[in-house]
Amino acid sequence: MKNIVVVGAGLSGAVIARLFAEKGFSVKVVEKRDTIAGNTYDYIDENGIRIQKYGPHIFHTNNKQVFEFLSQYTEWEKYEHRVLGNINGKLVPVPFNLTSLKETHSKEDAEKIEEILLKEIGFGKKVPILQLKQHSEPLIREFAEFVYQNVFYTYTKKQWGFKPEELGSEVMNRVPVYVSTEDRYFTDEYQYQPTDGFTTMVQNILNHPNISVELGVDALQHVTFEQNKIAYDNDTNIDLIFTGRLDELLNYAFEPLPYRSLNFVFETHNTDSYQPAAVVNYTTSEDFTRISEFTKFCCKPTDKTVIVKEYSKQCEEGDIPYYPIPKQEYQSQYEKYLNEANKFDNLYLLGRLANYKYINMDIAVDLAIKLFEKIINN
Ligand SMILES: Cc1cc2nc3c(=O)[nH]c(=O)nc-3n(C[C@H](O)[C@H](O)[C@H](O)COP(=O)(O)OP(=O)(O)OC[C@H]3O[C@@H](n4cnc5c(N)ncnc54)[C@H](O)[C@@H]3O)c2cc1C
Repeated sequence: MKNIVVVGAGLSGAVIARLFAEKGFSVKVVEKRDTIAGNTYDYIDENGIRIQKYGPHIFHTNNKQVFEFLSQYTEWEKYEHRVLGNINGKLVPVPFNLTSLKETHSKEDAEKIEEILLKEIGFGKKVPILQLKQHSEPLIREFAEFVYQNVFYTYTKKQWGFKPEELGSEVMNRVPVYVSTEDRYFTDEYQYQPTDGFTTMVQNILNHPNISVELGVDALQHVTFEQNKIAYDNDTNIDLIFTGRLDELLNYAFEPLPYRSLNFVFETHNTDSYQPAAVVNYTTSEDFTRISEFTKFCCKPTDKTVIVKEYSKQCEEGDIPYYPIPKQEYQSQYEKYLNEANKFDNLYLLGRLANYKYINMDIAVDLAIKLFEKIINN
């Protein structure tokens, strides 16, 4: 049996490590941070409030297998996420719905638009904004343009540093308008937060006698390349599962892959509530993209609250690469790295960095399960 080396103790790395460990493999997990759980890392602060150090994480999925897998390692608390958009100082539900329509338009205009939306689209429908922008009815197109400008345009530019039309169409296709009063941000079947947080859940996943975890170790200091094999501490008789940046692993053989990074500014306030929703998106003003309030996600009420403002920026040396940028030219750049990586038959790429793809937690777990099955059945 080959030994398994997993680079990265985020959710992707932890899940695949556990699956191999359960099959009797000896698994070494190497993590360069001093903490496990990757970007899902959370901790309790001095006021008893659970803080998500790398930004708010909300678990939601329609994938029963993923939900059941994670349920072995955590209890859950029901949590349905709601977001408000701050449009020129007015707070309205996002995704934009019929309530948002009424709050941003005169009574007369809102009634006209609602009537035509109900007639042309139908109550209860969820429509991508781009589809509305191309609708044959001029009033629907005008409405879509309002939503596009006031909810997406400035926010997208702040988030990605590009105008929406410069990004892959999947970005805008993901953004719906609800022809209803549905105000939940997600409509997935399973919407829960882990009762004791994500770090405890990942800790439980990694807690297996066949798994050893080394924190504060940059795997790249131990990796070497030998013809068609990758070696860890000179050992090529391993399978190496890599969840870090592929361009970094391959020593920037081509242009570095661009990422967006974030500056998080945390503030503690002496009040039990700072804003009326867990997240408020600033879609027309401010330099930050959104404010999240941790006490609204899961924690017991206290007389204090903690918020975080997110400032999006280009990822430079020393910054954390949070988001791969969804642009076709960068995807082509990634594929050059991928071709190079495919030359090593004991190297497997997993997770949002190595795959250069934004993935939610449920997809990360699903991909880890699928990769494990592929390797084991080979
Ligand atoms: C701001 C933000 C908000 C998000 N919100 C949500 C949400 O609400 N819901 C949702 O489902 N998903 C959300 N996500 C996505 C979620 O974080 C990911 O799906 C999940 O963390 C994927 O885990 P991963 O293991 O692939 O990556 P990561 O969590 O990034 O883990 C990779 C790990 O590899 C380590 N590593 C990298 N290189 C090396 C190296 N050379 N040596 C050793 N270790 C290395 C890193 O330090 C890191 O810990 C969000 C992501 C971000 C950035």
